Amino acid sequence: MIGVAALREGPAAARRRALAKAITLLESSLPAHRAQADALLTEALPHSGGAIRVGLSGVPGVGKSSFIESLGLHLVGQGLTVAVLAVDPSSSVSGGSILGDKTRMEKLAIEPNAFIRPSPSRGTLGGVASHTREVMRLCEAAGFDVILVETVGVGQSEVAVAGMTDCFALLQLPNAGDDLQALKKGVMELADLIFINKADLDPNAAMRARAQIVSSLRLHNQAHGAQWLPEVLQGSALSAEGVAEFWAAVQRHRAHQREAGQFEARRHAQDLAWLQERIDEGLRLAFAAHPGVAAHWPKLKDDVRAGRLAASTAARALLNEFLGEKTHG
Ligand code: GDP
Repeated sequence: MIGVAALREGPAAARRRALAKAITLLESSLPAHRAQADALLTEALPHSGGAIRVGLSGVPGVGKSSFIESLGLHLVGQGLTVAVLAVDPSSSVSGGSILGDKTRMEKLAIEPNAFIRPSPSRGTLGGVASHTREVMRLCEAAGFDVILVETVGVGQSEVAVAGMTDCFALLQLPNAGDDLQALKKGVMELADLIFINKADLDPNAAMRARAQIVSSLRLHNQAHGAQWLPEVLQGSALSAEGVAEFWAAVQRHRAHQREAGQFEARRHAQDLAWLQERIDEGLRLAFAAHPGVAAHWPKLKDDVRAGRLAASTAARALLNEFLGEKTHG
């Protein structure tokens, strides 16, 4: 059985192996493993919370892995340890993985002070996300200074990652049309920072996009009375231009959050969301596994499909079955 000491003490290579094993334990759905993972998490918790948690998102091809590699190398160069966790929503949708297929972050992967771990598919995005929260705590207990959580921008995944990090950054292409679309979709209002990547390809377009995003964000912030106006930066993941500035902006955001008393508040709210997610997930699984529910579900589904029963009525019948109550009406 792995204890926290194995994550924190001894040679680096052995600590990394222990961390990888501990994460595998967390990922297991076997009840015995789950119990061990819970014990490990309880032991790890007092040692966690010390890292800077940064979320990064953007459409496929925007340069997320290139950016994380540049940022990771920059941080490692400053003597920091960096864990990269990838939340990959594609696997539950398409059966394939957007993040996992290619060889990514080759230079960062061989750095002794970096640790890269993709999340496997977990059916639901909620499952992946809450699992990532747990992995994050283990990485913190293992002493990592910075946790970078990467996700592909497909709407829901950004909400999940913004909901588990201190600072959520959106990577954008130097294309103003896309930027406005993102703003419309409400994704940009999740962002604490925006980095316009690939500015090397067309510096003027990047400048224009930046001006446009800044003015849209200003309007939006005025309308919503937000305290933090997201910083908009530009640069190139390939040449690492703008990466040091990005990190400085992360730190400014952190200082602002602390001064405004929002840092702890955000983390506490995230912990409560984590609790709720786990309860929801547990209830969902218990519901599906309940013999009475399983016995009636197919027939009720048919009734709903055929229009014989309202979905709400069928749901109530199943819930009553689950709760061991008689169905009325
Ligand atoms: P991801 O799908 O968001 O992880 O994107 P990748 O990091 O895999 O990058 C997609 C492609 O864009 C790759 O061919 C990268 O080499 C390229 N790329 C990434 N960042 C930059 C950049 O700043 N400038 C240029 N010119 N190309 C970039």
